[in-house]
Amino acid sequence: MNNKMRLEKALLVLVCLTALAIFGQDWLLRETVVLEPHSQSNVRLYGDAIAGGATQTQLLENPDGALQWRCDLNAGNPYPYCGMEIFLTQSRSQGLDMSDYRTVRLWLDYEGTNKSVRVFLRNFDPRYSTVSDNISTKYNQVEFAASSPQGFYELSFGDFFVANWWLREKDIPPNLSHPQFDNLVSIEIQSGSTHRLGEQNFTLHRIELIGQRYGTADWYLAIIIVWALLVLVFLLYRVLRLTGELRERKRREQELIEVNALLDSRSRELETLAKTDSLTGAFNRQGIEEAVKQGLWEWRHSRKPFSIVMMDVDHFKAVNDQYGHAAGDLVLTKISALVHEHIRATDLFARWGGEEFVLVCRNTRMNYAEHVARKLKDLIAQQDFAEIGRVTASFGVASLKGGEGVDALFKAADKALYLAKERGRNRVEVAPR
Ligand code: GH3
Ligand code: MG
Ligand code: MG
Repeated sequence: MNNKMRLEKALLVLVCLTALAIFGQDWLLRETVVLEPHSQSNVRLYGDAIAGGATQTQLLENPDGALQWRCDLNAGNPYPYCGMEIFLTQSRSQGLDMSDYRTVRLWLDYEGTNKSVRVFLRNFDPRYSTVSDNISTKYNQVEFAASSPQGFYELSFGDFFVANWWLREKDIPPNLSHPQFDNLVSIEIQSGSTHRLGEQNFTLHRIELIGQRYGTADWYLAIIIVWALLVLVFLLYRVLRLTGELRERKRREQELIEVNALLDSRSRELETLAKTDSLTGAFNRQGIEEAVKQGLWEWRHSRKPFSIVMMDVDHFKAVNDQYGHAAGDLVLTKISALVHEHIRATDLFARWGGEEFVLVCRNTRMNYAEHVARKLKDLIAQQDFAEIGRVTASFGVASLKGGEGVDALFKAADKALYLAKERGRNRVEVAPR
């Protein structure tokens, strides 16, 4: 929840920043080149003398430090002119890339016989320019009425066109004939195209070239790239986080599985413990309860025979008295192990109490139970119980019959056992069928 809110906040901030970057582009990327040329600047004052004219030019000292010059346009050249070229860099071929610029502002005072002033933005391009030829740089031209000596003139780059005479003289192909500002080497201010003779006074205070640090297309591309990178970083972060969470969840699941397995085995252990006699390892009464119920149910519902064998160690009191209680315990444990070794997996052997045991035989006829009892009797009688020597046991066998219950079955087996004792011990007696 908290994380989601954080993401939304971050997105909101990013969207706002993007909107600012798009709509505030002009303000953010605005770049201005300011020129305040003076008489010592990198400038060139020229007249039409090179073209057969008689125009006189003169650089003047200006008290405010501005660039001031005067021309006397005299008859000679059919189109008398004079001009001032202000170089933008020291190099004649390496200028400024102003293709993303839009405006040029001129703080210019003009007084003279002509109505207008021409401005050239001169562009060097090796496809048509050479350093040795002064007029081989492109004449991006605009002409305007220089009637307002106050304030500045604002000229849009879009209003510039390439001077016709230059295109003609330089044989420029159509694909290079459009205005170009990608390598401006100089700015030129020239007398107007009315070419009237007489005195012309110019004072140039300041030039501002206003444009963008980067092109709009580049700027939008940068915004898209930044977004793409942010999304990428975010996705990467999410993937890493989810992987971590997944690993952690798996680890916890594994832990849970292990804990459950432990609890399961522990509870099974406890269950077994509760059903087991601690001395002999045989079942206790609880341990055979289920099997007895099952046997009764099977007898009643599908007439499957159900038999039990009761067993009691003979003269066990004497063993205790003679060899001690611990030796007695050992005898009980040994008898239990011996019986376990010789019964079927389906038969349950339990300690009924003291030195008395019971063997529960489901799905077993009386005959077979009797056979088992005899086998066990012989096994015990033949067993060597170390210093105690020989020990015997007596057996009573009974099977469920008619509609009788478990009580009757145990009583019958008990009775048969009693009979076995009475008849001399170390023997098997069977309840009447
Ligand atoms: P019988 O042949 O008639 O069965 O004679 P018995 O001595 O075996 O019979 P009785 O019931 O008189 O004696 C059983 C003896 O078993 C009494 C008791 O001390 C002993 N006993 C009962 N439980 C244990 C036990 O867990 N360990 C030991 N060592 N002796 C036990
Ligand atoms: Mg006994
Ligand atoms: Mg007994």
